[in-house]
Amino acid sequence: MIIHLQKDTAQKTIDEMSRELDAFHIIKPDFHILITPSALKEVPAKYNDVVIENFVFATDMQLSSAEYLSEKRQIDIGNISIGGNTNNTMIIGGPCSVESEEQIISSAELMQELGISTLRAGCFKPRTSPYSFRGLGSEGLKLLDKIRSTYGLNVITEVRDSTHVDEVIEYADIIQIGAKAMYDHGILQACGEIRKPVLLKRFFGATLQELVHAADFVLSGGNENVILCERGIRTYETKTRFTLDLCGVAYLKQYTNLPVILDPSHAMGYRYGVPDLARACTAMGIDGLLIEVHPDPSVAQSDAAQQLDHDAFRKLVNTLKPIASAIGRTIV
Ligand code: PEP
Ligand code: MN
Repeated sequence: MIIHLQKDTAQKTIDEMSRELDAFHIIKPDFHILITPSALKEVPAKYNDVVIENFVFATDMQLSSAEYLSEKRQIDIGNISIGGNTNNTMIIGGPCSVESEEQIISSAELMQELGISTLRAGCFKPRTSPYSFRGLGSEGLKLLDKIRSTYGLNVITEVRDSTHVDEVIEYADIIQIGAKAMYDHGILQACGEIRKPVLLKRFFGATLQELVHAADFVLSGGNENVILCERGIRTYETKTRFTLDLCGVAYLKQYTNLPVILDPSHAMGYRYGVPDLARACTAMGIDGLLIEVHPDPSVAQSDAAQQLDHDAFRKLVNTLKPIASAIGRTIV
């Protein structure tokens, strides 16, 4: 249950309620929020005086639920916003990994040329094999930081595990929680304690309910800036890397209050399918797209097969604009 309490509720009462009802406490400018397990269906009558309103839920999908907030939450990232009633579809473009200064400058120049405000690139890469490139680490973060101020771009980069969570939080404008880290409670908790936007990727074996529960972990820590990302789930199919779950996206749009971004690059795994998928995703009226693009994909040190080259990306972005506009949305 989510309970809104009067702004002037005594701390002693809040503490007592939190203990008795096993609740998280979030302070808002005009009221307090307590979030209890969803099994609670009624507020004890002795607290009636301090309760403004309460929301009952069938499951622990609470703060992320459209039953709590029927409007999508608005997320502000630098000078752009998504969600709320912005009707913006944000493109996040860039290489899978930061590999060199030259490579990341070339990527930043491409985003600037196309009017795209957010550059992606991983520095701490979660890899399936221990022998694969694992990213430039802190050195990569410093390169991103340099780019960010020089080109006026927002930067999104990934937290792989708790060893560098503080460092990534310091440098990134959006913290990416990678698919394999979706269940890492240390990362979820650290991201709940900050106020920067968090892009939470769905683990490829996670149900939609598990994804929104992970989102509630961050939200219940007090960080309202959570964006969900569908990046493909594992099915019986082996011809594509994963299967992009568009039915799941329709569910998330209908039943949650969080902006949803789609990542066709990791879902498909091969560049030939990425532009078509990106167009299909855009037509669904989503809040953003994450596309991997590399100055020379043939030498990319991670995810080489799925990254577009700059020309293919330019062409793709130009075809997305009219699709977005046909459904009343704007590419930012
Ligand atoms: C990535 O964005 O480069 C990445 C590793 O994605 P995912 O966590 O979805 O596999
Ligand atoms: Mn990648």
